[in-house]
Amino acid sequence: MYASLNYKFLKFLMSKVEFNKETGPREVFCGLTSIVWLHRRMPDAFFLVVGSRTCAHLIQSAAGVMIFAEPRFGTAILEEKDLAGLADAHEELDRVVNDLIARRPEIKTLFLVGSCPSEVIKLDLATVAEKLNKRFLGQVRFVNYSGSGIETTFTQGEDGALKALIPLMESSNEEKLLLVGTLANNVEDRFKKIFRNLGISNIESFPPRQSTELPKIGKNTKVLLTQPYLSDTVRDLKHRGCEIISAPFPLGIEGSTKWFLAAAKAFKINELKVHEIISPLINRAKLALESHKEILKGKRLFLLPESQLEISLARFLHNECEMDLIEVGTPYLNRDLMKEEINLLPDNTKIVEGQHVEKQLDRVRESNPDLVVCGMGLANPLEAEGISTKWSIEMVFSPIHGIDQAADLAGLFSKPLRRNQILTTKTLVTH
Ligand code: SF4
Repeated sequence: MYASLNYKFLKFLMSKVEFNKETGPREVFCGLTSIVWLHRRMPDAFFLVVGSRTCAHLIQSAAGVMIFAEPRFGTAILEEKDLAGLADAHEELDRVVNDLIARRPEIKTLFLVGSCPSEVIKLDLATVAEKLNKRFLGQVRFVNYSGSGIETTFTQGEDGALKALIPLMESSNEEKLLLVGTLANNVEDRFKKIFRNLGISNIESFPPRQSTELPKIGKNTKVLLTQPYLSDTVRDLKHRGCEIISAPFPLGIEGSTKWFLAAAKAFKINELKVHEIISPLINRAKLALESHKEILKGKRLFLLPESQLEISLARFLHNECEMDLIEVGTPYLNRDLMKEEINLLPDNTKIVEGQHVEKQLDRVRESNPDLVVCGMGLANPLEAEGISTKWSIEMVFSPIHGIDQAADLAGLFSKPLRRNQILTTKTLVTH
């Protein structure tokens, strides 16, 4: 019965918006990029990329590492002779791991992160992790996942890392709310406070703030996603018996309100109580949004696919900031996880899954948008053509979740438009 209802709902959504699929050349960051926010989240973990010098450069420039910092990520460099099969890449990996464990006793979990080069030479990191787990038993835990650009866009790196941790999570039938997806610590604290005020006292987060403090999970674990790009993690949590709460994502006032309401419903808490607790936040947020709305209202938005946050952002920017949506790109579309979001989009929204970057850029130029949300690699050329842009990657580095962050989220989009307005006015005055 539930399955058939779900199917009907998905069918309804398919008719409400326009779905398209595109394949071809892509222009996105790879999954290694997610190490930048994951290593901040779990300070007792280390992320060892098994890759080339290119991978090392990417991760260092993405994280802006200072030369004297003792970072919590590094690269075991595969040299040309490794890639050509003339040397045993396992030896270099062993050497780096031994050195690391000897020097850094604070490391409790070591992620071996695969890359394009390690996949091309078919380095079996799962077996490597298994052997290292035996050797360093009781001292450090090893897990592996892939951040390769062949398979992933940048947010999928987090999906891979979380999925890799699930087998380490013990079972428990205790009832709890599990927030899944990395959040800024202060945002997480505010969410937990609201849930406690609602009467939900047993709340945990995944990933946790310490890699060794993994939550226990089971059939009474109710999972509330904070990020939309965790399809593989969700599938494995379901296999462990967890219940996934269906909700939009907590971006903006609307998404966050419905997110709290969905959690309350799962815990049989009266919806009036939710409104009572979050109303003051909503009133404040609405006021704070006004100045951004003045700039964003009526502006035409084109979202290129990169982060998988695009559908939630489009919903927020249209419904709460009154922007017009030209096209909403997303690298992957999990219709089931996104159904509540899609339902909130205006009718006839054009969603494009996948990427053919040349065709998409042609459509951007033809439609002459006021703002394009895209990857860093596309932003500069578009700006040079006079098109305002916003980097998708900023959304994962900024605390944008929750009702009280709605104005800050809108500010990320109004800022480039405001800057453009000022520049245009100055140019007009000068002439
Ligand atoms: S994993 Fe692949 S895409 Fe990412 S930096 Fe390394 S070579 Fe480039």
